[in-house]
Amino acid sequence: MLPDIENLLKLQDADKEIRRLQEEVAELPKRVAAIEQKLAGTKAQLERAQAAVKADDAARRKYDTAITDLRGKISKYRDQSLEVKTNDQYKALLHEIQFAEQEITANEDKILELMVNADARDKEVKAAQAELKEETAEIEKEKEQARQRTAEDEKLLVEWRAKRDQLRSGVREDLLRHYERVSKFRGSGISEVRDHKCMACQVMLRPQTYNDVRSGKETVVCDSCQRILYFNPAEELVEKKETIHRPKRHHPKIDAAQAWYYRLEFAGDGEVFLCLTNSSGQASRRVYDIHTGRLLGDILIREGDYRQAFPEDITGSTRLNGGWTEEELDGFGAELPMVILDSLNADLDLARYEASSGTQTKHAVPAPEHAAS
Ligand SMILES: [Zn+2]
Repeated sequence: MLPDIENLLKLQDADKEIRRLQEEVAELPKRVAAIEQKLAGTKAQLERAQAAVKADDAARRKYDTAITDLRGKISKYRDQSLEVKTNDQYKALLHEIQFAEQEITANEDKILELMVNADARDKEVKAAQAELKEETAEIEKEKEQARQRTAEDEKLLVEWRAKRDQLRSGVREDLLRHYERVSKFRGSGISEVRDHKCMACQVMLRPQTYNDVRSGKETVVCDSCQRILYFNPAEELVEKKETIHRPKRHHPKIDAAQAWYYRLEFAGDGEVFLCLTNSSGQASRRVYDIHTGRLLGDILIREGDYRQAFPEDITGSTRLNGGWTEEELDGFGAELPMVILDSLNADLDLARYEASSGTQTKHAVPAPEHAAS
């Protein structure tokens, strides 16, 4: 992969993280504002309840005053009634007194009504006060959390921006400009190529473009979305294993003087390669660790052909390609050379692939050996 591409991928990660942090920082005051708005609503509710109490008090004073006035009037009418001369005048005064008494009762009823309401009003005020207190405490907590989170985010932003600047300096200038322009419009400026497709816009690439991206020698942009394209060799490996581009496996001969086998488990040593060799009427067995290539235990020699000498090692093992002379094997000493270890492992890979895809043919590995593997 081109160093420019590697840096762009890291730059993309940094850009994403910076964007996420910026969004989070912008989001926090909005959350606080939403709670503050709710708080303002509760404050208004409390003020309304308090105003209602005040209005009731004023009304009560008004009714009290009216009652006092009416009583004054009644007292005056009584005084006047002592001095009247005619029955009609007396009746008229009596009527006035009755009317004033009715008025007093009406005012007293209103006062009683206010007194009954006062309990409910009081409850309303107390509830609004409690709610306000709770919300105020909550908003203080939220504000504090927002302050802390913002401070943390700002600190991270400084770090990520420094990282981004450093990464930017590691990318060719024209490429960087292209990346930033596309990022601005599309949210990302670089895209992986897989299965001949740009993974961002899902458009198939022309064969030449695909080959250019795969070769990784120059930077290529997607014709459709303009993102800079890259090819991940790790994905290529997966792709290779899954496609039919595998080389056809060469199959070992049944009657070869030497046979290599793979065993999943051998004498508690885990996965091993066994090397069985016929030589002058005797058979030798060497056991190697498949990961390190180290020779495990001693070289075992038995009389006869290796098929008769080591049948228990052959059963359930996977036959592999490989052929080296006794002298060469002795020359390898306690450890297989890496190139040989690699070739055995590659052949094992192919054998496994054959077994899983059912591509093996009847002339492949001898049946009894494979049956149990
Ligand atoms: Zn594209």
